[in-house]
Amino acid sequence: MALLAASCASVKIPEKIAPEFKGVDAKVLPYYNEYLRLAKKQGIMFLMGASVGIKDINVGRVIGVCHYGAGWREVDLDRYFLEKSENTQKEALVFHELTHCLCTRIGHDYGPDKHYKESDDALGGAKEPIMCAAPKEETGYYSDGCPITIMYPEVLSKECMDQHYDDYVKEMFVNCNPW
Ligand SMILES: [Zn+2]
Repeated sequence: MALLAASCASVKIPEKIAPEFKGVDAKVLPYYNEYLRLAKKQGIMFLMGASVGIKDINVGRVIGVCHYGAGWREVDLDRYFLEKSENTQKEALVFHELTHCLCTRIGHDYGPDKHYKESDDALGGAKEPIMCAAPKEETGYYSDGCPITIMYPEVLSKECMDQHYDDYVKEMFVNCNPW
């Protein structure tokens, strides 16, 4: 099973039969370590890690994927997105994927039975993240239009990350089932 950031559920990502990478790519290691630090602060420890690699994903607008294997988990991050993005957005992407992989939060939910729609228009087109789009649903957003969770199916804008960082961090580990 593969899970995506910035994409829709109907996107087909080729499954991996084995991990492709070893360890965590040095380019994103600081974000990975920061994630572990923040988790620990909230009393969450992970018994297992995830490998994290950078590659050209080339599937629609997908810029991140968490692969769940038997005894392994692996994050793919999109090379182009990482090259052109600001640090805050790289962090948002890494945190999102690690929450899928390390916290076993497999969906784009923000509460029991509350999950964001996986929009079909996320297919195709450029790999541009959608910035704080106007609310598409009645709940799941702050009054400024920012989603209430980093598990929103698009990478959060720098504005949203700056404005709500502490709440996003707290929310990330709600319902975390540590891997
Ligand atoms: Zn996702």
